This record gives sequence, structure tokens and C-alpha cells, in this order.
Amino acid sequence: MKPTHIEHIGIAVKDLKAAIALYERLLGTPCYAVEEVVDQKVRTAFFKVGETKIELLESTAPDGPIGKFIEKKGEGIHHLAFAVDDLPGALRHMQEGGMQLIDAQPRKGAEGLQIAFLHPKSTGGVLTELCSHH
Ligand code: ZN
Repeated sequence: MKPTHIEHIGIAVKDLKAAIALYERLLGTPCYAVEEVVDQKVRTAFFKVGETKIELLESTAPDGPIGKFIEKKGEGIHHLAFAVDDLPGALRHMQEGGMQLIDAQPRKGAEGLQIAFLHPKSTGGVLTELCSHH
């Protein structure tokens, strides 16, 4: 049930185009995908750093989760995502260990991943995502 690696780091940005240009300079690598996740009200842009990705998140609506986050806390790191082999199993394991889940069932995230969030109340204030490729 141990995570295999950090799948991505999610970063809330106000202006995706400007943030893409910044990260292209910072990482020396082009953004390889831009994708809108309609039910999360976000537009995402991805970069690869070794096995880990940087996921830039721009809100498409002020009342979406990223819009609210930026209003409260400003731009910056939004969540950490760990890759697991068996997401439903990992969620059961976390719940049995007393973790509070935001998503009791896996749902579809960007890049065709199955994802689920743990509540930051039970993860020391860090919004934590678990994800798997199946
Ligand atoms: Zn994510």
C-alpha cells in the first residue's frame, strides 16, 4: 500500500499562459500537455521532471476549488499527489488508519488517471492526492 513515487505536485496559478512560460524557463523543458477538467473547473498544464510531473492549475470559474484556493491563500503549491498501484485498496487502507477522505471512491482526473483526495485535516494541512493508472 506504499506509494511508489510522487506522481505530481499541483500548483495553483492565476494565469496559466504566464505560468507555462515561467516553468518552461525554470525547468528548461516544454509543457507537454494542456487539458481542461470540466468537473473540477480547472485548466491544467503538465511538465515532466524525471518521474514526477508539475501540474499547473488555473481556475476556469471563481467558485471552483482552485479559484477559492487562490482567493484564500494566493498562488502556490496546492497539493501533493502520490502514485499507488491499487487506488481502491489504498483508500480502504487509509480509511482504516483513521484518515479522512474527500473522495471515498476513485474518480477521473487529468491524463486519464484515477484519483482521490485525502482531507488536509488528517494530513497535517497538506492536501494529498492518491492516483493510479487503472
Ligand atoms: Zn493533482
